[in-house]
Amino acid sequence: MSRSAHPAGPRHGDVLPEGHYTAPPADLNRLDEKVWSRTVARTADGVVTVGGIEVTRLAEEFGTPAYFLDEADFRARCRAWADAFGPDADVFYAGKAFLSRAVVRWLKEEGLNLDVCSGGELVCALDAGMPAERIAFHGNNKSTEEIERAVEAGVGRIVLDSFQEIVRVAHIAQSRGRRQRVQIRVTVGVEAHTHEFIATAHEDQKFGIALAGGQAAEAVRRALKLDGLELIGIHSHIGSQIFDMAGFEVSARRVVQLLAAVRDEHGVELPEIDLGGGLGIAYTSDDDPREPHEIAKALSEIVTRECEAAGLRTPRISVEPGRAIVGPTAFTLYEVGTVKPLEGLRTYVSVDGGMSDNIRTALYDAEYSVALASRASDAEPMLSRVVGKHCESGDIVVRDAFLPADVAPGDLVAVPATGAYCRSMASNYNHALRPPVVAVRDGEARVIVRRETEEDLLRLDVG
Ligand SMILES: *Cc1c(COP(=O)(O)O)cnc(C)c1O
Repeated sequence: MSRSAHPAGPRHGDVLPEGHYTAPPADLNRLDEKVWSRTVARTADGVVTVGGIEVTRLAEEFGTPAYFLDEADFRARCRAWADAFGPDADVFYAGKAFLSRAVVRWLKEEGLNLDVCSGGELVCALDAGMPAERIAFHGNNKSTEEIERAVEAGVGRIVLDSFQEIVRVAHIAQSRGRRQRVQIRVTVGVEAHTHEFIATAHEDQKFGIALAGGQAAEAVRRALKLDGLELIGIHSHIGSQIFDMAGFEVSARRVVQLLAAVRDEHGVELPEIDLGGGLGIAYTSDDDPREPHEIAKALSEIVTRECEAAGLRTPRISVEPGRAIVGPTAFTLYEVGTVKPLEGLRTYVSVDGGMSDNIRTALYDAEYSVALASRASDAEPMLSRVVGKHCESGDIVVRDAFLPADVAPGDLVAVPATGAYCRSMASNYNHALRPPVVAVRDGEARVIVRRETEEDLLRLDVG
C-alpha cells in the first residue's frame, strides 16, 4: 500500500492550481519512449538504467548532478538523419546544441557535417578531426580573427549574415589567394515556434538579411561581384522546437523565389539551399515530433515543387538539426535534497543542480518531464515542482510534473531530453561546478566532459 509522506501536498483528484500540466499519468513508473533515449529502461526492481547500467551505480561513480548521454541513441539519430536525406542532401549537426570532441568524432564517423558559430566551436571541431570542408561557419558578428581562422582552415562554407561581412570575408579570402564558398543567410519573414508560425512582413531580429525590400537580392548582387567569394546558395533558419512543416513551406517558397530572381538578373542558378534547423523533440508526453524521413520527404517535395514552378533545377538541400539529434539522447541525474509541501499549491522538490545546468526553463519557460529514477514507487502522484539550489526563485528545472508522493531526500530523479542547450548553456552561477557529460554505451560509461573542480574555478580568478 502506498503511504504518503507529505499529506499537505495536492493529490490526484484534488482541485489543482493552475499550471502547464494535464492529468497525472496512469503509471508514474512507466518511462515514455518518446521522451527517454532508446536504451533507457527500468530493472525488475525499479531502478532506471541507460546502456544497461543502473543510475544508482552511475551516481556512485560519477556523482550528481550529471548528464548521461546515450551514445547508441546519438549515433542512431545521426544515421536516421543521414539516411533520410540521402546522398543528394547534406545534414549539418548544429554544434551549439552540444559540442565536445567525442561528439565531433561520432558525427564524423556517422557521416554528418557540422555547424559551428564561434572560434571556440571551430577549434573543438578541428581539434577532434572534423575535416574542414565538412564545417559550416555561422554567426551574426563573427570577428575578423574568427573569419581568418575559418578561411585558413578551409571551412566548407561561411554563412554570411550582413553586408559588412560580405566585404570582410571577401577581403580576407582574397588576401590569402582563396575563393571562399559562402551562403547568404536571409530572413524570409517567417518565425516558427512549436505548433504555429507567424508570417511577418519584416523580421525584427538580429540574424540574416531580409528578403523584404530587396535587401537579400542586393546582398547576392554584391557577393557575386567579389573575387574572394564563391556564392553557393541561400540559407534560411526560421526558429526552434518546430513541429509544423508549414513554416518551412513558406520559407522554402520564398528562398526559391529569390533563386529565380537571381537567375533572371544574373543568369546564375545557385546550386544549394539550406533550410536550417529547429525541428522539435518531445520534452513531455504531449509532444509529437516528426521522424527524420517524414521531414526529409516533406522538405524535398516542397523544394522540388517550388523549383518546378519557377523553372529551376532543384538545388542541393541542406538542413541543420541540433536539438533533434542530441536533445533526446541525454538525461540529467540529480539527487533530491529537500521536499517542501506547500498546502493547496504543490510540493517543491529541491535537487543538487538547477539553472546552472539547465537554464531553459527559466529562459524560455521550457517544459520538461521528470521521473523518480533510483527506485520504482506505487505511491500516489503528487504535483511537484523540481527546483535547483541557486539563489533565485526562478531557479526551476521542471515547472509542473507529478512525482510519487513518497519522494524523499536521497532519491535520484532524472530529467529526460536535456541533451541540447543544457550543458552548452551551463554557467557557474553561485560558483556552481558545471556537471560532467558521461557517455554510456553497451554497459560502459565514460566521461567525455569532466566535472569542473574548485581548482578550475579558482584558476581563472587571478586577482
Ligand atoms: C540554432 C541553429 C540551428 C539548430 O537549431 P535546433 O533547434 O537545435 O535544431 C540550425 N541552424 C542555425 C543557423 C541555428 O542558428
